[in-house]
Amino acid sequence: MAAESRLRLVSIYPVLLGTYGDGGNLRVLAMRAKARGFDVEAIELDAGEPVPDAADLYVLGGGEDDAQVAAARALRADGGLARAANKGAVVFGVCAGYQLLGAVFPGSDGVPEPGVDLLDVTTDRLPKRAVGELLAAPCTPGLEQPLTGYENHAGATHLGRDVAPLARVEVGVGNGAGDEGAVHEHVLGTYLHGPGLARNPELADLLLSWVLGSPLLPWTQADIDALRAARLAAVRGRR
Ligand code: GLN
Repeated sequence: MAAESRLRLVSIYPVLLGTYGDGGNLRVLAMRAKARGFDVEAIELDAGEPVPDAADLYVLGGGEDDAQVAAARALRADGGLARAANKGAVVFGVCAGYQLLGAVFPGSDGVPEPGVDLLDVTTDRLPKRAVGELLAAPCTPGLEQPLTGYENHAGATHLGRDVAPLARVEVGVGNGAGDEGAVHEHVLGTYLHGPGLARNPELADLLLSWVLGSPLLPWTQADIDALRAARLAAVRGRR
């Protein structure tokens, strides 16, 4: 984080990568950082705008196959996200934004498309599209609460040796082989929509703590606690 203590958050192409409310993840991060007294600059980049490589945290959301291909090509051509990640910036990708952080994913009609290769994962097709609630037990240091969200994707994501799973699936599909998401240093991908950071404040705070280099003071919101309790009860009741 920069010396002037202003947290710089960037949402990558929310018009292409913002399905299922994932644009809300930027707002959650900004709000939770401001609530702890940090000055925040939150930027939404249009597709094709240069990606600044000096920000602290980048978010990418879900998208349709064509939009995902367009975003991956623009990011590969631009190079700013890769430079930022190599300098230690935090990167958080959801669904399409998760898949394109990997080496390859299925584009339109399933044609393999290279990703930006910041996570050691590859994505191909699930036998059947995964649609519904996703509940997973975290296995990432710093996370203890169950992860809740919903998923809607056709991709099956395979983890390489350089990543650890974010969580183990309790309900739903996630990556497709019992695990959910992937983490390498400060790059984290997940299938959790919701927005995922609204439904999982502990995950939002973990990302912010990676930027700050220390844990944040606790901050709970009764309405979010109630939302989590309702979703967890509904999903567990269906098991
Ligand atoms: N297009 C990708 C898939 O279907 C990602 C979908 C999404 O982002 N919701 O797997």
